[in-house]
Amino acid sequence: MKLEDSKLFRQQAYIDGTWLDADTGQTIEVSNPATGEIIGSVPRMGATETSRAIGAANRALPDWRRLTAKERSNKLRRWFELLTENQDDLALLMTLEQGKPLAEAKGEISYAASFIEWFAEEAKRVYGDTIPGHQSDKRLIVIKQPIGVTAAITPWNFPAAMITRKAGPALAAGCTMVLKPASQTPLSALALVELAERAGIPRGVLNVVTGSAGDIGQELTGNPIVRKLSFTGSTDIGRQLMAECSQDIKKVSLELGGNAPFIVFEDADLDAAVEGALVSKYRNNGQTCVCANRLYVQDSVFEAFTEKLKLAVAKLKVGNGLEEGVTAGPLIDQKALAKIQEHIDDALNKGARLVTGGKPHALGGCFFEPTILADVPASALVAKEETFGPLAPLFRFKDEAEVVAMSNNTEFGLASYFYARDLGRVFRVAEALEYGMVGINTGLISTEVAPFGGIKSSGLGREGSRYGIEDYLEIKYLCLGGI
Ligand code: ADP
Repeated sequence: MKLEDSKLFRQQAYIDGTWLDADTGQTIEVSNPATGEIIGSVPRMGATETSRAIGAANRALPDWRRLTAKERSNKLRRWFELLTENQDDLALLMTLEQGKPLAEAKGEISYAASFIEWFAEEAKRVYGDTIPGHQSDKRLIVIKQPIGVTAAITPWNFPAAMITRKAGPALAAGCTMVLKPASQTPLSALALVELAERAGIPRGVLNVVTGSAGDIGQELTGNPIVRKLSFTGSTDIGRQLMAECSQDIKKVSLELGGNAPFIVFEDADLDAAVEGALVSKYRNNGQTCVCANRLYVQDSVFEAFTEKLKLAVAKLKVGNGLEEGVTAGPLIDQKALAKIQEHIDDALNKGARLVTGGKPHALGGCFFEPTILADVPASALVAKEETFGPLAPLFRFKDEAEVVAMSNNTEFGLASYFYARDLGRVFRVAEALEYGMVGINTGLISTEVAPFGGIKSSGLGREGSRYGIEDYLEIKYLCLGGI
């Protein structure tokens, strides 16, 4: 690995401003999903080290929250600049441990950095209220204060951005944090925190603990010092963490699974819809929680859309993300391959038609062919479960009411998409979809300036936008009498 700045390749955890190994000396290997090669290792820490990190975050809290918003903002701004200056190294590390094409990894680094920039600005806008009083000798004031010590558990699909959109608002608000990154992609997290240290974020304010998810998770949820947990990952683990947090009524933000519908109405611009489907479905090789999971196409344009999508998918280039021109990297592991294959086989057994792909790629390893299935029946597994891979299942529908009902027939409610030009339909459908986010005539909705999050079993809270910092603030009401 040739990083311009070799110090960004950190293989120790970061607690209280110190780089550390696990107490036991045990490590976890990090491998490259494109080659299977071991690229490094990180400490396999557990509850003891996590408890120490929580203690450090607690000690750092009084000084950090006491800084003026502008002082915190300046440090975050510096962190943003360092992320941007080191974009190439950070992207290379990410492609090596996660597999996504280098261009996508670079895109993620600038997306990740944008959250730090945004919340550096928002830090200064944590306004309260004055409320016209209910009695003439009283004045009512509302102030907002940092929640305190927070914890974050993040996934491997966006190794940098899922961290910055939690750490950015937390630190901006005056909270401190203990972060547990996914074991598949800890090197990105450690590089980010190396840059946070260089930006002057004081010791203890942001700690990274690597290792056993269960042990670290239980300490983060069970330790009463931690006042809030923010988690991005599967609904099952989110449910478990929320239950654990109920013990001492910790606040939780959860960004969980999705099962995004992508609807193409007959009045859609079909070429634009194909382009949108391509980015929404195949970006990060289908491994995002906002990826189109079910593509609903109206009867009269079904064949035309299928044909156009097939041509577009044929242009995707599968391979090692470091190679020029590659647009689809490997899946994260063999488990992911088994899941997409299960979804494909199930749909074919239930009468779906294979349009393209359908099996592991000739490159072997974790590579899989970009796949399209047509005429998938509503009974298929993929209608209910998130695939998290490059499979576009096309379902037919007749009319608006039917497709809205099918789209909403899921426990999930994160992202949804539809293509239509009729203005009345655009409003009707946008309002009827039971989702936290709706992309209309676009397949790309993520930006730091908009509120990202889901409803139903897809989660609680919002990340990014002016709402994102609220998740890290408590409201306090002051009732001032004796005026
Ligand atoms: P995915 O299927 O995307 O890997 P998971 O929900 O399994 O989603 O993992 C997301 C994050 O949650 C990872 O950082 C993982 O280490 C962590 N995690 C997994 N199991 C647990 C657990 N029992 N307690 C706490 N964190 C967990």
